[in-house]
Amino acid sequence: MRPITYDRADDLAQAVRLGAQSGQGQTDAPVQFLAGGTSLFDLMKLDVLTPERVVDITPLRASHGAIDAGPGGLRLGAFAKMAAVARHPAVLANYPVIAESLQLAASAQLRNMATLGGNVLQRTRCSYYRDTSWTACNKRNPGSGCAAIGGVNRNHAVLGIDGSCISQSPGDFGVALAALDAQVELSGPQGPRRIPFSTLHASPEGRPHIETTLKPGEIITAFNIPAGAWTGRSAYVKVRDRASYEFAIASAAVALDMDGDQVREARIGLGGMAYRPWRSHEAEAVLAGKPLTEANAEAAAAAALSGAVTHGNNDYKPELGRRTLVRALMQARAMPIKTAEN
Ligand code: FAD
Ligand code: SF4
Repeated sequence: MRPITYDRADDLAQAVRLGAQSGQGQTDAPVQFLAGGTSLFDLMKLDVLTPERVVDITPLRASHGAIDAGPGGLRLGAFAKMAAVARHPAVLANYPVIAESLQLAASAQLRNMATLGGNVLQRTRCSYYRDTSWTACNKRNPGSGCAAIGGVNRNHAVLGIDGSCISQSPGDFGVALAALDAQVELSGPQGPRRIPFSTLHASPEGRPHIETTLKPGEIITAFNIPAGAWTGRSAYVKVRDRASYEFAIASAAVALDMDGDQVREARIGLGGMAYRPWRSHEAEAVLAGKPLTEANAEAAAAAALSGAVTHGNNDYKPELGRRTLVRALMQARAMPIKTAEN
């Protein structure tokens, strides 16, 4: 038994103060925030996370859990429950890719407990990371090597990886955020700041134990998704080993601004492929100004996965990633066009 100090923060200022020595963003941070607890307690029970202090920030839901949709876009409080956002009428109507990414994640029970902030900060599902009997894991045990390279790596990433870690980012919601150019609102000891979602997760670069760009004590308070002609025609496709209650082995979030059959602008995110929710500007460039035919979708998908690096068990992934993206593009193309009348 290891003793843990439990603190409850009643407001944001107190939470920031209590978390100030947290080293957030590092796997072994001595202070962890408790939002829904569905990821944190899981990893504490496995002895993967061993915080000295847990700061309960659940009371912040009252002040930072709102869902606001307006002409400028969607603002989602980071303490909103996944289930509440997935069923919100404005999200369903105008940001289907967000609603679908949440509906297809985890289980109903988990979605009722888990928060948006906790979802984008959940850790990898790499089995070597989650099993402390394996010493070689640079993410959990810096400098120890990577058991997945040369080991069982069927679910591992193929994009944005290096020789220090090939783990994949497991979440769904973040893939939609990546596609839609979301911004993240943060609050920390130095005050509030706002960063692009694309910069929240740190690339491995030989030090995969540093997982985010959050500063010590920083708390995610909200996500901002700008309104755009593409948000209404958007879709999330998730491929997994069983039909429910399972993480993605591949997923795609797409949002399309169309002029008849022509793509004015496409926004594309990929899940299950990289160390973070992945944005594919390469695939978007292939589609811009072209009709959305299956052939063009395949060309875009080929561009999206062109830099893929595989490690044996996951040799199938680039092809699965390509097919998943083509399916998502075809699904979004078939969506009814929304007008002011309907
Ligand atoms: P917590 O467990 O409370 O926190 C997680 C981490 O985030 C902690 O390190 C904490 O310090 C930090 N944190 C939390 N909130 C903040 C904040 N606002 N600011 C700063 N730091 C913060 N997810 C999917 O996307 N798709 C799936 O298919 C899926 N399947 C799952 C299946 C199982 C069996 C389980 C257990 C989980 C699954 N999940 C899935 C993950 C689940 O969605 C996450 O556990 C959940 O979203 C985490 O949210 P939480 O509020 O419980 O976070
Ligand atoms: Fe650890 Fe990353 Fe290697 Fe998995 S892939 S064993 S998380 S270093």
